[in-house]
Amino acid sequence: MAVERTLSILKPDAVGKNAIGQIIARIESAGLQVVAARMTHLTQGEAEGFYAVHSERPFFGDLVKFMISGPVMVMVLEGENAVATYRDVMGATDPKKATAGTIRADFADSIDENAAHGSDSLDNAKNEIAYFFRATEICPRTR
Ligand code: UDP
Repeated sequence: MAVERTLSILKPDAVGKNAIGQIIARIESAGLQVVAARMTHLTQGEAEGFYAVHSERPFFGDLVKFMISGPVMVMVLEGENAVATYRDVMGATDPKKATAGTIRADFADSIDENAAHGSDSLDNAKNEIAYFFRATEICPRTR
Protein backbone atom coordinates (compact mmCIF):
# COMPACT_ATOMS: atom_id res chain seq x y z
CA MET A 1 0.00 0.00 0.00
CA ALA A 2 1.14 3.51 -0.73
CA VAL A 3 0.84 6.70 1.27
CA GLU A 4 -1.84 8.79 -0.43
CA ARG A 5 -3.68 12.04 0.12
CA THR A 6 -7.41 12.57 -0.26
CA LEU A 7 -9.76 15.55 0.05
CA SER A 8 -12.42 15.58 2.73
CA ILE A 9 -15.25 18.07 3.06
CA LEU A 10 -17.37 18.07 6.20
CA LYS A 11 -20.59 19.36 4.69
CA PRO A 12 -22.92 22.04 6.13
CA ASP A 13 -25.17 19.47 7.85
CA ALA A 14 -22.26 17.91 9.77
CA VAL A 15 -20.84 21.31 10.72
CA GLY A 16 -24.34 22.47 11.75
CA LYS A 17 -24.66 19.46 14.07
CA ASN A 18 -21.39 20.47 15.78
CA ALA A 19 -19.98 17.06 14.82
CA ILE A 20 -16.58 18.17 13.47
CA GLY A 21 -14.65 16.76 16.43
CA GLN A 22 -16.45 13.43 16.47
CA ILE A 23 -15.87 12.98 12.73
CA ILE A 24 -12.18 13.90 12.90
CA ALA A 25 -11.77 11.42 15.78
CA ARG A 26 -13.03 8.66 13.47
CA ILE A 27 -10.68 9.80 10.69
CA GLU A 28 -7.71 9.70 13.06
CA SER A 29 -8.76 6.36 14.56
CA ALA A 30 -8.66 4.92 11.04
CA GLY A 31 -4.97 5.84 10.83
CA LEU A 32 -5.34 8.93 8.66
CA GLN A 33 -3.68 12.24 9.51
CA VAL A 34 -5.11 15.70 8.92
CA VAL A 35 -2.34 17.50 7.01
CA ALA A 36 -4.35 20.59 5.99
CA ALA A 37 -7.66 22.04 7.21
CA ARG A 38 -9.73 25.18 6.80
CA MET A 39 -13.25 26.37 7.56
CA THR A 40 -14.87 28.08 4.60
CA HIS A 41 -18.30 29.10 3.36
CA LEU A 42 -18.37 28.14 -0.31
CA THR A 43 -19.60 30.58 -2.90
CA GLN A 44 -22.06 29.37 -5.52
CA GLY A 45 -19.27 29.43 -8.11
CA GLU A 46 -16.94 27.38 -5.90
CA ALA A 47 -19.63 24.75 -5.25
CA GLU A 48 -20.63 24.58 -8.92
CA GLY A 49 -16.99 24.24 -9.95
CA PHE A 50 -16.26 21.54 -7.40
CA TYR A 51 -19.26 19.44 -8.46
CA ALA A 52 -19.00 20.30 -12.19
CA VAL A 53 -18.87 16.58 -13.04
CA HIS A 54 -22.47 16.33 -11.77
CA SER A 55 -23.73 19.45 -13.59
CA GLU A 56 -26.11 17.45 -15.83
CA ARG A 57 -27.57 15.40 -12.97
CA PRO A 58 -31.09 16.24 -11.74
CA PHE A 59 -29.87 16.84 -8.19
CA PHE A 60 -27.15 19.35 -9.17
CA GLY A 61 -29.07 22.55 -8.30
CA ASP A 62 -30.14 21.25 -4.89
CA LEU A 63 -26.64 19.92 -4.20
CA VAL A 64 -25.09 23.34 -4.87
CA LYS A 65 -27.76 25.04 -2.74
CA PHE A 66 -27.03 22.63 0.11
CA MET A 67 -23.25 23.02 -0.15
CA ILE A 68 -23.53 26.82 0.18
CA SER A 69 -26.16 26.70 2.95
CA GLY A 70 -23.56 26.98 5.71
CA PRO A 71 -19.86 26.68 6.52
CA VAL A 72 -17.90 23.57 5.60
CA MET A 73 -14.54 22.21 6.71
CA VAL A 74 -12.15 21.25 3.93
CA MET A 75 -9.28 18.94 4.84
CA VAL A 76 -6.46 17.02 3.25
CA LEU A 77 -6.06 13.57 4.80
CA GLU A 78 -2.87 11.56 4.44
CA GLY A 79 -2.12 7.91 5.10
CA GLU A 80 -1.76 4.41 3.69
CA ASN A 81 -4.39 3.88 1.02
CA ALA A 82 -6.03 7.17 2.10
CA VAL A 83 -8.57 7.40 -0.76
CA ALA A 84 -10.17 3.99 -0.12
CA THR A 85 -9.66 4.14 3.65
CA TYR A 86 -11.56 7.41 3.93
CA ARG A 87 -14.34 6.15 1.62
CA ASP A 88 -14.71 3.20 4.06
CA VAL A 89 -14.80 5.55 7.07
CA MET A 90 -17.47 7.69 5.33
CA GLY A 91 -19.75 4.84 4.26
CA ALA A 92 -22.09 4.64 1.29
CA THR A 93 -23.44 7.80 -0.40
CA ASP A 94 -26.95 6.95 0.82
CA PRO A 95 -26.83 6.81 4.65
CA LYS A 96 -29.62 4.22 4.60
CA LYS A 97 -27.18 1.89 2.84
CA ALA A 98 -24.11 2.89 4.88
CA THR A 99 -22.55 0.35 7.26
CA ALA A 100 -23.22 1.01 10.95
CA GLY A 101 -20.44 3.00 12.57
CA THR A 102 -19.56 4.96 9.43
CA ILE A 103 -19.74 8.77 9.30
CA ARG A 104 -22.73 8.79 6.96
CA ALA A 105 -24.62 6.09 8.91
CA ASP A 106 -24.22 8.08 12.11
CA PHE A 107 -24.32 11.74 11.02
CA ALA A 108 -26.16 11.95 7.66
CA ASP A 109 -29.92 12.37 7.27
CA SER A 110 -30.36 11.62 3.56
CA ILE A 111 -28.54 10.95 0.28
CA ASP A 112 -28.74 14.70 -0.43
CA GLU A 113 -27.43 15.85 2.95
CA ASN A 114 -24.86 13.20 3.68
CA ALA A 115 -22.34 14.81 6.04
CA ALA A 116 -19.08 14.26 4.19
CA HIS A 117 -17.30 14.25 0.85
CA GLY A 118 -14.28 12.11 0.05
CA SER A 119 -12.41 11.86 -3.24
CA ASP A 120 -13.29 8.69 -5.16
CA SER A 121 -9.94 8.15 -6.93
CA LEU A 122 -6.33 9.20 -6.58
CA ASP A 123 -6.54 11.34 -9.73
CA ASN A 124 -9.65 13.12 -8.48
CA ALA A 125 -8.01 13.55 -5.06
CA LYS A 126 -5.09 15.41 -6.65
CA ASN A 127 -7.41 17.75 -8.55
CA GLU A 128 -9.74 18.29 -5.59
CA ILE A 129 -6.87 19.02 -3.20
CA ALA A 130 -5.48 21.58 -5.66
CA TYR A 131 -8.98 23.13 -5.91
CA PHE A 132 -8.83 24.13 -2.24
CA PHE A 133 -5.20 24.15 -1.08
CA ARG A 134 -1.86 25.55 -2.18
CA ALA A 135 1.08 23.16 -1.77
CA THR A 136 2.48 25.34 1.05
CA GLU A 137 -0.72 24.89 3.09
CA ILE A 138 -0.21 21.12 3.34
CA CYS A 139 1.79 20.12 6.41
CA PRO A 140 2.82 16.45 6.53
CA ARG A 141 4.45 15.19 9.75
CA THR A 142 7.75 14.52 8.02
CA ARG A 143 9.29 16.51 5.24
N1 UDP B 1 -26.23 13.42 -4.37
C1 UDP B 1 -27.55 13.84 -4.21
N2 UDP B 1 -28.55 13.05 -4.69
C2 UDP B 1 -28.31 11.86 -5.31
C3 UDP B 1 -26.98 11.43 -5.47
C4 UDP B 1 -25.95 12.24 -4.98
O1 UDP B 1 -27.78 14.90 -3.66
O2 UDP B 1 -29.27 11.18 -5.71
C5 UDP B 1 -25.16 14.28 -3.85
C6 UDP B 1 -24.62 13.74 -2.53
O3 UDP B 1 -24.34 14.87 -1.69
C7 UDP B 1 -23.34 13.06 -2.95
C8 UDP B 1 -22.89 13.97 -4.10
O4 UDP B 1 -24.08 14.32 -4.77
O5 UDP B 1 -22.43 12.97 -1.88
C9 UDP B 1 -21.93 13.34 -5.07
O6 UDP B 1 -22.48 12.13 -5.54
P1 UDP B 1 -21.59 10.83 -5.74
O7 UDP B 1 -22.43 9.82 -6.44
O8 UDP B 1 -20.29 11.23 -6.38
O9 UDP B 1 -21.37 10.28 -4.25
P2 UDP B 1 -20.13 10.35 -3.24
O10 UDP B 1 -18.87 10.20 -4.02
O11 UDP B 1 -20.22 11.67 -2.52
O12 UDP B 1 -20.38 9.19 -2.30
